[in-house]
Amino acid sequence: MSEHKGVWVYCETDESRLKRVALELVTKARTFADKLGEEVVAVLIGNDIERHAEGLIYQGADKVLVVDDEVFTNYTTDAYSKALANLIEERKPSILFLGATTNGRDLAPRVAAKLKLGLTADCTGLELNDKKQLVQIRPAFSGKVMVELVSPETRPQMTTVRPNVFKPAKPDNSRTGDIEQVKTLISQDDIRTEILERVKEVVEGMISVDEAEVVVCSGRGIKEPENLKLPEELAKLLDAAVGGSRPIVDLGWLPPTQQVGQSGRTILPNLYFALGISGAIQHLAGCSSADTFVAINKDPDAPIFENADFGIVGDIFEIVPAVIEEIKKIQAER
Ligand SMILES: Cc1cc2nc3c(=O)[nH]c(=O)nc-3n(C[C@H](O)[C@H](O)[C@H](O)COP(=O)(O)OP(=O)(O)OC[C@H]3O[C@@H](n4cnc5c(N)ncnc54)[C@H](O)[C@@H]3O)c2cc1C
Repeated sequence: MSEHKGVWVYCETDESRLKRVALELVTKARTFADKLGEEVVAVLIGNDIERHAEGLIYQGADKVLVVDDEVFTNYTTDAYSKALANLIEERKPSILFLGATTNGRDLAPRVAAKLKLGLTADCTGLELNDKKQLVQIRPAFSGKVMVELVSPETRPQMTTVRPNVFKPAKPDNSRTGDIEQVKTLISQDDIRTEILERVKEVVEGMISVDEAEVVVCSGRGIKEPENLKLPEELAKLLDAAVGGSRPIVDLGWLPPTQQVGQSGRTILPNLYFALGISGAIQHLAGCSSADTFVAINKDPDAPIFENADFGIVGDIFEIVPAVIEEIKKIQAER
């Protein structure tokens, strides 16, 4: 175990674009590496991806391992899991983070199984304990409890982390580090699947809640699908995404891509409006880290207020139009 050193982050790209979760995880890895006295190593696997390496160093990596080959043009479980498992076997990191994205959730268990490692999936928190072990925190039993897991017997300690749990630090362009090209012995013959077509989920005319800086989210208090015009109007003024609690999405009033919460999206906006949402733990699991949290609910005892920076007790059908008017006035003055 003592041979294992380095906090690694698998930095996922999609069609050659670096996923934001990579920056979030490199930022977190930096804080742990400083406490452990180890290096942060970012791992890039793909085709034509070396251009992301410098940005990862500015973000906090000491070293970037670049596995760049045509064989990695599309994500395939076979090629990526072999490449990552080979690197881990050769270089023995102590910690490995992956984003809990669709591909990250596919890749991590394959690598863990190949190397007989423990793996905690879908973490929403990470800490180091007194023994310098990685404490991996995630909801369990339908979100009723948060569990803390450690991997005392295997290295690297491996975990997938939900996007938008950690905030990426501001990049420091004066940082320097090593960029190493790693040769791979993987060929097309190692890949048992073939990508025939890629179908992208696009919701026409909707800003995705994942990436929006402002999210206006409605709950059952909105009562009728026609009433969603109100949060939509507020969202339009603020260039915000329109989200919903699970009941709203289950009713088909908003698409599943806009559901906020444990079984929906985890989001990290600057500003979050919760309109007529009670504040169940499963909802808050997806939005409680918002920088500024505004809750409007007619029930003064609604649990949502415990998480709110600004709480307004009142009817959303009276308060939201007043908020809209006020914003229009301010925007007109500007
Ligand atoms: C395994 C599991 C996963 C789940 N995942 C998710 C998830 O991802 N996301 C999620 O949201 N939920 C999730 N849930 C469901 C969650 O437990 C709650 O049931 C849900 O969040 C409640 O939605 P709500 O707040 O919109 O509705 P309610 O709990 O019914 O609350 C409606 C609120 O609106 C207020 N209200 C009513 N009328 C008005 C008005 N005119 N003005 C102001 N306020 C008004 C009421 O006071 C009330 O507080 C999950 C549950 C389970 C078991």
